[in-house]
Amino acid sequence: MKLSTQLLIDGQFVTGDGQAEPILNPATGELIASVPEASFEQVNRAVNGAQRAFAQWSRTTPAQRSTLLLRLADAIERHAEEFAALESLNCGKPYLAVLNDELPAVVDCFRFFAGAARCLQGPLAGEYIEGHTSMIRRDPIGVVGSIAPWNYPLMMAAWKMAPVLAAGNTVVLKPSEQTPLTALRLAELASELFPRGVINIVCGRGESVGAPLVEHPLVRMVSLTGDIATGQKILQSAARTMKRTHLELGGKAPVIIFDDADLEAVVAGIRTFGFYNAGQDCTAACRIYAQGKIYDKFVAAMTDAVASIKVGGPREEGVEMGPLISDRQRNRVASFVERAQSSGHVEVTAGGKIRPGNGFFFEPTLIAHARQEDEIVRREVFGPVVSVTRFSDAEQVVQWANDSDYGLASSVWTRDLGLASKVASHLQYGCTWINTHFMLTSEMPHGGMRMSGYGKDLSLYALEDYTVPRHIMVKL
Ligand code: NAD
Repeated sequence: MKLSTQLLIDGQFVTGDGQAEPILNPATGELIASVPEASFEQVNRAVNGAQRAFAQWSRTTPAQRSTLLLRLADAIERHAEEFAALESLNCGKPYLAVLNDELPAVVDCFRFFAGAARCLQGPLAGEYIEGHTSMIRRDPIGVVGSIAPWNYPLMMAAWKMAPVLAAGNTVVLKPSEQTPLTALRLAELASELFPRGVINIVCGRGESVGAPLVEHPLVRMVSLTGDIATGQKILQSAARTMKRTHLELGGKAPVIIFDDADLEAVVAGIRTFGFYNAGQDCTAACRIYAQGKIYDKFVAAMTDAVASIKVGGPREEGVEMGPLISDRQRNRVASFVERAQSSGHVEVTAGGKIRPGNGFFFEPTLIAHARQEDEIVRREVFGPVVSVTRFSDAEQVVQWANDSDYGLASSVWTRDLGLASKVASHLQYGCTWINTHFMLTSEMPHGGMRMSGYGKDLSLYALEDYTVPRHIMVKL
C-alpha cells in the first residue's frame, strides 16, 4: 500500500513545512506515518493557486466539469480496495464495511454531482420592466476552503469537493489532522485529471492550518463538517471578511419507538445504526425514546443485541465495530458513561467499559432508564453509546425530541404510518426516517437545523449552496 504524505499545492506535491503530525493506527495505537503540516506560507500559496485557477475553471462548461468528475469517480472505483485499506488503517474501521458501504457512496457522490452540474435549474428569463429582459445566472463563488472531520475522511472529502467543483469553484481542502491519508491519495488521482490549482489539499491542525485558511481574504466561502465549537469559531472569523459559510455540525438523533413497532426490526436497526462506525457518526441512532408498553421488552432485546456486536481490528473475521479514533476520544466517551452512571438512576445494561489491551476500543454500550434532563440524553457522545428513555404519549415525545441543541437527524418507528407522518411533520430535524435510520442517498439533502448547522451536503441543494444567484438585465 502506497502512503502519500505530500500536500497538493497549486499543482505541485510538496512536503509540509510545518510541524510533523503523527498518524496513528487506532486499532493498535502504533504509528503509521508522519505528515508534516502546511506552513502559513503554504496555505497562502494554495489559496493563491486556487484563485488563479478559478479564472479558467469557472468558465468551463458544465459538460467539461462533469467529464472530469466522472473520470475521478472511475479512478476512485478502480482504486477502491486501496482506498478501503488506507481508510480502515487510518480510522480502525472494518475493512469490508469501508469497501462495501463507503467506497460506493464516495464514487456515487462524484457521479451524482457530475450529472447535477448539467441540470442546475432556475426561474425563467422574462421582461419584468417594460423594454428590459431579466435573467438569472447561478455562478460559482470563488475559492472555497473546505474543512473535514475524521469520522469518514474520504466520504467527507467527496461531499466537500464534488459539489464545489461541479459548480465551477476551486477548492482548498483541509482533512482532519488525524486522518489525512485517503485525501492525500485522492489528491494524486485528481491531479492527473484536473487543471493545476483547481484542487489543493493542505494538511494540519485546526489552529495552525484551518484558521489561516478561514481567514484568508481570497477564500470566498468556508465549508466545515465538525464540532459546534469549531463552527462558532469559523463564523466569527468569517465575519471579518464576510465569507459565505456552509456548516454541518454535530447531532444527537432522537429515535422514537411506539408500542406497536416491529420489535425485531427496531432492535436490528438500532444494533446497526447506533453502532456503525463505533457510533462516531453525527446521525447515529443514539437517543432512544421507547413507549411505556414496549420499553422493557425493547431494553431486554437491545441489551442482548448490543452485547453480540463483534468488536475488533479492521481485518478480523466477522468484525462489526472497530476502535474509536484516538485515546482522547475514547477517554471522552468513557467519562460520559461514568458521569451517566453516577446519576444513580440509569443502568448500564451492556458494555460500559474500555476494552483492555492495545488500540482505542470501547465496548458497545446501552444505558437504560435515562431521563430527558440527563447529560447522556442531551450531549453528543460520538461513540458507541446509546441511551434509552421511557415516554408515555406522542405529544410528550415530540416535545422531548425537539428539546435539543441539535437538529440533524431523527427516526420514528411504528406500524401506524398516519402516526409516523404526523410525528415526522412535528419534528424539527433536517431528516426524519420512518422505520429505518441513517440511510443516505446522493439525491437527497443531508444537513441540520438549530446548532447542527445549516449547510446541505449531497443533492441539488448542495450545488445551490456553492453557487450565487445573479441577475442580468438587458435594455432592449
Ligand atoms: P472538529 O470540529 O474538532 O474538527 C473538524 C475539522 O475542523 C478538523 O479538520 C479540524 O482540524 C478543523 N478545525 C478545528 N478547529 C479549527 C479552527 N479553529 N479553524 C479551522 N478549522 C478548525 O470535529 P471532529 O472532532 O474532527 O469531528 C467530530 C465532530 O464533527 C462531531 O461533533 C460530529 O458530530 C461532527 N460531524 C458532523 C457531521 C454532519 O454531517 N453534520 C458529519 C460528521 C461529523
